[in-house]
Amino acid sequence: MATYNDLAELLFPEITKTIEDLEKEYPERSLPEGAQVTRFAPSPTGFLHTGSLFTAYIAYTFAKQSQGVYMFRLEDTDTKRTIAGSADELIDQLEEFGIIADEGYFANGDKGAYGPYQQSARADIYKTVIKHLILEGKAYPDFCSAEELQKIRDFQEANKILPGYYGPYARDRKLTVDEQIEKIKAGTPWVIRYKSNGDHNKKIKFKDSIRGELELADNDVDIVIMKSDGLPTYHFAHVVDDHFMRTTAVTRGEEWIPSTPIHIQLFRDLGWKAPKYAHLPVIMKLDHGNKRKLSKRKDPEAAVSYFLKAGYPARGLLVYLMSIANSNFEEWTITNKSLDVSKFTFSFKKMALDGALFDENKLNYFSKEVIAATPKEELFKAVKEWASKNSESLLKKIEMDEEYFSKIINIEKDRPNPRKDYAKYSDIEPATWFFYDEDFAKHDALPFDEKFDKDFLKAFLGEVADKQLYNATESEWWNSVKELAAANGFAVSNKDYKANPEAFKGNISAAAELIRIAVTGQKDSQNLHEVIDILGEERVKARLKSAI
Ligand code: GLU
Repeated sequence: MATYNDLAELLFPEITKTIEDLEKEYPERSLPEGAQVTRFAPSPTGFLHTGSLFTAYIAYTFAKQSQGVYMFRLEDTDTKRTIAGSADELIDQLEEFGIIADEGYFANGDKGAYGPYQQSARADIYKTVIKHLILEGKAYPDFCSAEELQKIRDFQEANKILPGYYGPYARDRKLTVDEQIEKIKAGTPWVIRYKSNGDHNKKIKFKDSIRGELELADNDVDIVIMKSDGLPTYHFAHVVDDHFMRTTAVTRGEEWIPSTPIHIQLFRDLGWKAPKYAHLPVIMKLDHGNKRKLSKRKDPEAAVSYFLKAGYPARGLLVYLMSIANSNFEEWTITNKSLDVSKFTFSFKKMALDGALFDENKLNYFSKEVIAATPKEELFKAVKEWASKNSESLLKKIEMDEEYFSKIINIEKDRPNPRKDYAKYSDIEPATWFFYDEDFAKHDALPFDEKFDKDFLKAFLGEVADKQLYNATESEWWNSVKELAAANGFAVSNKDYKANPEAFKGNISAAAELIRIAVTGQKDSQNLHEVIDILGEERVKARLKSAI
């Protein structure tokens, strides 16, 4: 009578290592107490999803704030769905957010002692563990064809039985080793299944770092652990990889909650300690009053590239994501105006459960704060870098005169409450067009109030052109505007104006507005004193003259 050993050798003759060898090769890490080992484990099946950025960011943050290790593991066992080049794109985009792995798969080779970090390169590791399970009688080859599996399902459906390959419906579970060997030798295709010892009528409990204790039905399905292509399924690879990479905390999407009993069972049967689990909420969107998942097809904001192209600063998006992640974060931002989010202590306990809602207004709010808090030089560099990749017209303007451009985007920066004009770099051009003569020349009719007749406007603007102060402090300049206004029939004090509006052409802001319209072509603009200062005497005079 053949033994498990015969079977194991027949299935995996090339595997000579044992599970003990692997334990030695990938020893427990010596890290400071409390240090967490986390990973982001995407499949290279396309672009970086906003939800994936969230997942990666949380894993990264949790590792970093505990002086731990953050890994990037490429889950590329689904060869049919793999898209060439997408892994490197994921890494590049994460890098734009500063989410750089301590260990993991990189385009130019692995980094770290717990690799390979690409599942397709780990086949021998999985096979070593599977061979071990075969030897222990805890896994077996299954020879069912697709049609035979369908027959089992049809029978279950017709008889209203829970579907699945389990218990009495796990056909090949009952084969003897002799029968198994005979089929293998006959060349019947096989997969490897795990022999579950679970009971579906029993509950299994586990602790989720976000949701607390969860209780789910135990798994009794003999799941496939190795596919016919020799690669593992997700369930098995997760358990093996996170054990031998010595992951302490698995942060993954909540869609994995229902399969966690399978994972716990595998950890237990292999005699390994399961990591902590944190199942993250999915990012949702409000669509006509209904909550739904961000959809790759319908929502441009489902792709991280959308934000990068629009010129959201990476930190703006991270700050926003942290506000979704932790309910106490917004309060923290009030006392931490620089918005250095790396100083915030993230906690799973403060995580909302009911599906984080994507809110563009809130993103814009935080992003404006971030841009406003970015030092001048840094902002200039970031905008130029963005423009060089995304906006030819803006880049042209920047290159025309870098200092001029830097002044423009940094108007009213050096104050306790700096201006917040831009949520993203693509907002800059529409808000600063008038600084550039070529664009200014194309302005519409100047929007002066009809109550001022042409002769008056000419006279007033003429006087401004002669007497307007340049290179003056804001208060000197403002005094000169007041003088000009008073000499032309405007009220200098609001109180005077309110007491007797008929006696004046308008109040002081009405006078300033006329100047603003003449030099910017519009009624609203950034701080007029700074605008005039940046435009400079020559340009301002030319504009006033042309208005006249
Ligand atoms: N490749 C899996 C996914 O993209 C990883 C889940 C996990 O983090 O374990 O959903």
